[in-house]
Amino acid sequence: MLQSLLSFVQSIFSHPEFLAPTLWVTFGCTLAWYLLSAKKYQEITTQEADLLWKTHKQFTHCIAKKFEPIIKGKRLVGYRCQCGHQHLQQRPIVNFGS
Ligand SMILES: [Zn+2]
Repeated sequence: MLQSLLSFVQSIFSHPEFLAPTLWVTFGCTLAWYLLSAKKYQEITTQEADLLWKTHKQFTHCIAKKFEPIIKGKRLVGYRCQCGHQHLQQRPIVNFGS
């Protein structure tokens, strides 16, 4: 993992045309996305699942009548709507001071 990251960085420096500022912005965004997307599931309450599902229905004009809870272990972590939409509550492992 670290090895491939190092060789990636080296390949950037050996190709000066890759050092365009826009690429660095893209690289920064990708890195931030990578760090933030290293998630684990977060337990939610049935009320929260209900609220999230209602929000989904409102935003997508979904007409489903019910949803199924998604349980991981013994924890409720999301829901699966009748329309096929599924939501898993996740949070980033990396927390920037919050
Ligand atoms: Zn739905």
